[in-house]
Amino acid sequence: MPTQPLTNLFRPEILAMSAYHVADASNFIKLDAMENPYGWPEAIQQVWLEHLKDCPMNRYPDPEAKVLSMALRQSNGIPETSGLLLGNGSDEIIQILMMALPNDAAVLAPEPGFVMYKQVALSLGLRYQGVPLLADSFELDMPAMLAVIESLQPSLIFLAYPNNPTGNLFNPEDIQKILSVAPGLVVVDEAYAPFANASFIDQLPHQQNLLVMRTVSKLGLAGLRLGFLAGDQVILEQLNKVRLPYNINCLTQITASFALNHQGFLLAQTQTICQQRSEVLAALQSIEGIEAYPSAANFILFKTTYKPADIVFMSLKNQGVLIKNLSPQGGLLQNALRVTIGTPEENQAFLTALRHALKNS
Ligand SMILES: *Cc1c(COP(=O)(O)O)cnc(C)c1O
Repeated sequence: MPTQPLTNLFRPEILAMSAYHVADASNFIKLDAMENPYGWPEAIQQVWLEHLKDCPMNRYPDPEAKVLSMALRQSNGIPETSGLLLGNGSDEIIQILMMALPNDAAVLAPEPGFVMYKQVALSLGLRYQGVPLLADSFELDMPAMLAVIESLQPSLIFLAYPNNPTGNLFNPEDIQKILSVAPGLVVVDEAYAPFANASFIDQLPHQQNLLVMRTVSKLGLAGLRLGFLAGDQVILEQLNKVRLPYNINCLTQITASFALNHQGFLLAQTQTICQQRSEVLAALQSIEGIEAYPSAANFILFKTTYKPADIVFMSLKNQGVLIKNLSPQGGLLQNALRVTIGTPEENQAFLTALRHALKNS
């Protein structure tokens, strides 16, 4: 018989963590999670359903996802000499990277940034260090970054390009500088590549410590859970030992390959989203009491300047519009909200609800 609570079996850092919380979005206009708001054209859906019949559900999937890997290499322009590792979302790749590190390794990321870097580092008991971005521009604070790299000697540095939740592309020369001084690996996280028109993929053959991570989630396939890491073959060969053998299921392999081979409709959707992004930004910038920041992603960060963001967020929610309240994270995100670009109708509904929220006290 156990004489202690069984939860005492777990590491203290696990007991101290809180689970990643996802808001229940049923019945809301859902603009909180950087999803593509569009479904698939009927004709394409029909052909896709035919393809799914080829999926042998009684068999394990191809452990190397060869067909899908070819499609990803082609559609993302991954250099032939680079290796490729697939994950169940890029979240899993973040986990694979950190699981391969020794227990005393240090991980560094600018903040505010993607919360999963810190979450995974803490869950594995690694040392994690966030370095604040510059307050006015959300650019990298290079003196601070270089000082922490020097003192901490991080095994792993994450740089989201563009950054979530600020939406900006860091100065590429700063990233180059970090690549040249980092003692370990530098992951450039290009989750928002479909909206950004900027990438470090071409740098892969020239920079051994550079890894480029991408996902199909923001492109419009968030339900599939598929991310990938491109980089030096020798590095990826080691990481591949940590990957569970069948992490990309058969339905994901077939569906993602199909979607990438018919990606015209997805590219048209992302173009519409980029057009809508300019319109929503211009509208936000014209609203008194709002400061909105330009974005190279499919979301926009904005701050409320006279009404607390918590109150504006709740008012939007009461009006049926769900966005992301970043204000509880504090620091540079005090009074900050993040809206995902939706359909033109959803964006109008959001803007109307926001104007209403700012008017009423
Ligand atoms: C959304 C996001 C991810 C996670 O992508 P998945 O492939 O869906 O796990 C990774 N990095 C950043 C910066 C993101 O915003």
